[in-house]
Amino acid sequence: MSQKTHIPQTAPFRWEDVPVLAYKEDGGTHFKGITRQVLFDEGGKLGAQLRYFEIAPGGHSTLERHDHAHCVMVVRGAGRALVGKDIHELGTNDLVRVPPRTWHQFRATDVGPLGFLCLVSQERDKPQRPTEADLAALRDEQAVGSFIRT
Ligand code: MN
Repeated sequence: MSQKTHIPQTAPFRWEDVPVLAYKEDGGTHFKGITRQVLFDEGGKLGAQLRYFEIAPGGHSTLERHDHAHCVMVVRGAGRALVGKDIHELGTNDLVRVPPRTWHQFRATDVGPLGFLCLVSQERDKPQRPTEADLAALRDEQAVGSFIRT
């Protein structure tokens, strides 16, 4: 991680010496068309990471929950997010709070990417994916059932 105090943008949504990484190190088929860039990884009293995720048209993040929270700002394009039982329409510069222990999933539209900044604690628990029982409970809400991708 760079310790530089200025990291210029080199192309739209690309930054000097910030690699474009796989969304999740362990791979999987529970997400589609998504990359990760770690913009800040700051220890000490801040103890936080700021990541930039970009979901390609038609793609989605993992449906998951965990004890840690996310603070998200959309900076490119549009899409939708499930947070708990609510599906939000997202536009550029919108903010999304993902509270602890809350199911969440982000989806791009079919016509353009969805890019967002995501602030997270450096020390955090591993995301949980839904069990069959969790999925059945989520699908009780018809709109949620048709939104989620697993
Ligand atoms: Mn998450």
